[in-house]
This record gives sequence, C-alpha cells and structure tokens, in this order.
Amino acid sequence: MGDMVVVRKEGLYCVPGQFYIDPWRPVDRAVITHAHGDHARWGHKHYLASAQSVGILKSRLGQDINIEGLAYGERIVHNGVTISLHPAGHVLGSAQIRMAFGGEVWVASGDYKVEPDATCAPFEAVRCHTFITESTFGLPIYRWDPQQDVFDDINRWWRRNADEGRTSILYAYAFGKAQRLLSGLDPSIGPIVCHGAVEPLNRVYREGGVALPHTQMVSETEKADLKKALVLAPPSASGSPWTRRFGDYSDAFASGWMLLRGARRRRGVDRGFVLSDHADWPGLMEAIHATGAHQVIVTHGSIPVMVRWLCQIGLDAKAFDTEYGEEDDEAVTATPGEPQAPPEAAQEANDA
Ligand SMILES: [Zn+2]
Ligand SMILES: [Zn+2]
Repeated sequence: MGDMVVVRKEGLYCVPGQFYIDPWRPVDRAVITHAHGDHARWGHKHYLASAQSVGILKSRLGQDINIEGLAYGERIVHNGVTISLHPAGHVLGSAQIRMAFGGEVWVASGDYKVEPDATCAPFEAVRCHTFITESTFGLPIYRWDPQQDVFDDINRWWRRNADEGRTSILYAYAFGKAQRLLSGLDPSIGPIVCHGAVEPLNRVYREGGVALPHTQMVSETEKADLKKALVLAPPSASGSPWTRRFGDYSDAFASGWMLLRGARRRRGVDRGFVLSDHADWPGLMEAIHATGAHQVIVTHGSIPVMVRWLCQIGLDAKAFDTEYGEEDDEAVTATPGEPQAPPEAAQEANDA
C-alpha cells in the first residue's frame, strides 16, 4: 500500500478515505484539526471536527456551514477508513486525527502542545505507524518555562502597573492564547477588560464548560478602574488608535516567539512573555516517541532540522510541504479566483 496520506494542491489528502485534512483550498470533505484560520478555512462542502470545535468553527466561518461534530475517541468509518479524533492540547476543541485502514494507523497532529492547559483537554499520545507532526518550535533552543512561572510574571507586572496607576495591555491571539492567559490571571489585582475580538471567544469557551474569570468590555469599565485594569487585546490592536483611550499604559505580548529578543523589539512592546500553545523541542520529542511511530512526517515550522534529527535517531522521517502558518503572521492567504474568507475568519489566523 502507498502512503495513506499525501499532499495535493488542495491540502493533505487521505487517499483511501477520499477526504482532506485542514485543506487550504475549498474541497468536498474536510476533516479539521482546530479552528485557527490557517487550518480551518472557509468554503468546504462538508466539515468534520471535534464536537467542541463546532461552535467555534460556526462563529468564525458562518452559522450555515455543513458541519458534523465527533466526540473525542468516537469512531466513524468513511470509505473504509476508521476515523477518530483525539485531544491535541492546543486550543479548545483541537484534535489529532487518527486514521486506520488495512491494518495501518496514521495520525495527523494538527497543532499541539503537551503541557496541560486549563482551557482545553490534555494532549493524548495515540499509538500509530505514521505520525504527521507540526514543527513550529522544532529547534532545540525552544524550551518553555512552566506556565505557572509565566502566569506569576504576568501577574507581578500587572500588579506593579496597577499600583502605579497604569493600565496593563496584554496582546495575545484572540482564540486560544487569550483564554489560556485568562485562566492564569489573578482577578484580585483589578478588572480584566477584553477587546471586542476576544470577548466573543471567551463566551464560546464558557459555553464549552471552561471556567474563566469575570471579564468586561472597555465600555462597561469606569475610567478610574481602567488604571488598575489588565486589558487583553489581539496583536492587531497594538499601535492602533484603540489604545489611546488608556492614556499612560504599559504593554506586553505573550507568544512563544518572545523567546527571541528580535521578535520583541519588532513588536515594540515593553514586555514579552514566553507562552506558546505549541510544543517546545522536548515536548515535540516526547510526543513523537509516545506514538511509537516508525515513520514521522514533518509539517510547518523547522522542517529540515526536525527531519535530520529524527533520521539520526533511527526514524524514517520526511516532510510535507503545507500552507499552514509558520510564524505568527495573521492573515489568511486567499488564493486568487477563490472566494474570500469572511473578515472574522481572516482575523488572527494563527496563534503561536
Ligand atoms: Zn493552531
Ligand atoms: Zn498550525
């Protein structure tokens, strides 16, 4: 048997199942790992995703999309391929896709992290013959501090600003990162104010059963209280007129890329907090080993380094060339001649 999953111009394609995984061009049947814009695009005739992703996908791609939700671990058979979805620990609803056919098991990871996150189900290692892994932070320099240390740093920064009567603006991707940050904030310091791009996603998380501290909009907050507030906003709000209403403020950006000094300088913020929803190098290695896979296929990120390393440790490794976001660039790249994604979908495409 040839490869169960191959790359076509539309996206990753399961050959016996005749469906696509996170395709970047419109197709008939798409199985979606998670609702970030570079993985979940507009225009497919049928979507299959985790039950917890359905609400988010509808809010981003339109209420009228044709979508079927599958509980984690539940199995369905499509053209003889047994499909099941397993938590990827990346954002609410994120799933790895397990495909079994003719005694072979392949797993496509989508984006994942292995550190527990209070806002989504923890990553589950799924045994397989072939594992298709992301490699966003696939260099040995990427090692994350425990998230509690990062939350403590953020709360310390916020408390100092509040004591000095300065608003704290924290930029983070509106879907996933913002809610994970919320789960780690200390609401006793002051009010938590959310930008209009963040608040609707908080609602989806709460509806999905995720406990988040109380949040409010700027319009609901007294001017005097804003000086003690932590404001969560998408990166696109940075340097925009929207920030002027806060007067004197300190700002920060939360992303895995903040490990790189140059990335923080480019963002032009006061502080960078290193927090990623992707696995770091040890996390990627731990996840790959836990699958028991002999063949590993590397997608978006540090492909050559990961492939070389995996071959050196005796695995059969190669790459798939995909159109998933490599960095925290935010726009969905629309292909000429194809329908444009609605603006909500183009917002905050990626998430690192
Ligand atoms: Zn993602
Ligand atoms: Zn991705």
